[in-house]
Amino acid sequence: MFLISRILCSFLFLFGWLPLCESSFAGAEGFTICKGLPSYVNNGLSVAPLIILDPGHGGTDEGAKVQSVLEKRIALTTALLTKKQLESLGYRVIMTRSRDVFLTLPKRVDIANKSKAALFVSIHYNSSPNPSAKGIEIYFFEARGQERTRASKRLANTILHQVIDQTEAHSRGVRRGNFHVVRETEMPAVLVEGGFMTNIDERFQLKDRKYLEKIAKGIAQGVHKFLNT
Ligand SMILES: [Zn+2]
Repeated sequence: MFLISRILCSFLFLFGWLPLCESSFAGAEGFTICKGLPSYVNNGLSVAPLIILDPGHGGTDEGAKVQSVLEKRIALTTALLTKKQLESLGYRVIMTRSRDVFLTLPKRVDIANKSKAALFVSIHYNSSPNPSAKGIEIYFFEARGQERTRASKRLANTILHQVIDQTEAHSRGVRRGNFHVVRETEMPAVLVEGGFMTNIDERFQLKDRKYLEKIAKGIAQGVHKFLNT
């Protein structure tokens, strides 16, 4: 019975009746496709939008480090939790890294551009010499007059709204930033700074997996809203 439903499901998938299909497929990126997902047409086949998640730093590049909290580690945890959320909403996800490895910035961009992904979300955590600095901010790259800029700004606003809704953290707003990964990618791209490791209250929260889950949920909901409005 399982085999029959699997074959039927593959059939529905190939012919674009994706919303009718409840089974999941382990594709090249191990994606899952769920019931109720709006179908998107690509080369005549319905496929779920592909999202790139880019956990900042990794390997020898630790990012910010405050006491026992490492930016590279909480960025990876957040990205893995976001992947889970996005997959449960039916999206395909590729991570630029899913382990503690070093990856150059051009390599991250290369992964995104070659995969022809719909969106790119980089995840980082902040630090400041001012210990009272706190809150969440999201960056996009501004190239005047470009459709991608407008989309990136809207994506940043949508994600920020959802993340603040989930975490009730202080919003530092959407900002323009000249970061390699949001500048060189070809799809709408944002960089999330999910809170200050140098702020004692935020650092306490960032150590809590449940709090990172709220950030992840906010990012996933933001992506979902962006692609459906
Ligand atoms: Zn960083």
